[in-house]
Amino acid sequence: MHRRIVILTGAGISAESGLRTFRDQDGLWEEHHIEDVATPEGYERDPELVEHFYNGRWQQLHSGNIEPNAAHTALSRLEQEFEGELLIVTQNIDDLHERAGSRRLLHMHGELSKGRCPRSRQTFTLHDPFGPENTCTCCIPAQRLRPHVVWFGEMPLGMDRIHDALDHCDLFIAIGTSGTVYPAAGFVDSANHHGALTVEVNLMPADRHSQFQIHLQGKASEMVPPLVERILAGQSICNQTGHN
Ligand SMILES: [Zn+2]
Repeated sequence: MHRRIVILTGAGISAESGLRTFRDQDGLWEEHHIEDVATPEGYERDPELVEHFYNGRWQQLHSGNIEPNAAHTALSRLEQEFEGELLIVTQNIDDLHERAGSRRLLHMHGELSKGRCPRSRQTFTLHDPFGPENTCTCCIPAQRLRPHVVWFGEMPLGMDRIHDALDHCDLFIAIGTSGTVYPAAGFVDSANHHGALTVEVNLMPADRHSQFQIHLQGKASEMVPPLVERILAGQSICNQTGHN
């Protein structure tokens, strides 16, 4: 039924794996000033503080308690079995999609497991937490790597590729991310404009400003596996909602 799919995933899918998120109640921003730990200016003022913040995230991700959940696994299966085009765009900086086996993946807000040379913008996979010993191999003298994370005031990564995929998709699904806040709001507009079916999976009820055609309310780990099943079987997604 569908040939070209774009999937956007957000904090909700990671939260179900036990990762602390930024914006929710008791979220990380409650304990930290955004301007101190997630802006280029904050990093310039105090790189150690920023590195300490992201090292905390890194340690949680590698604590051994955090694993991909059934939604991550279902999306990986979709990638393996779907015969059309697929792109997963994630707002998450963790590597849970990769751990589940996804490869056609774009991290629009960067990756916790990478550092970036501030001069050449080349990225390096990190095997240890951030510290002054993490330097690039592309410059002389070697530069201290900054977190490969998109901060407030910076452009998300891969926007050209994302918009190209949205312009050609016939199915756009947003999972665990508020569909009314930029950039997801722009993505659903774009997909609608190009005639795609647009679906959101969210724990919260549909926002009255939502532009999505179908709203599936519930946990990603419970809603995504049957959704993937229907896509692979070529069945209509509308029927999953029970009112169509
Ligand atoms: Zn360099």
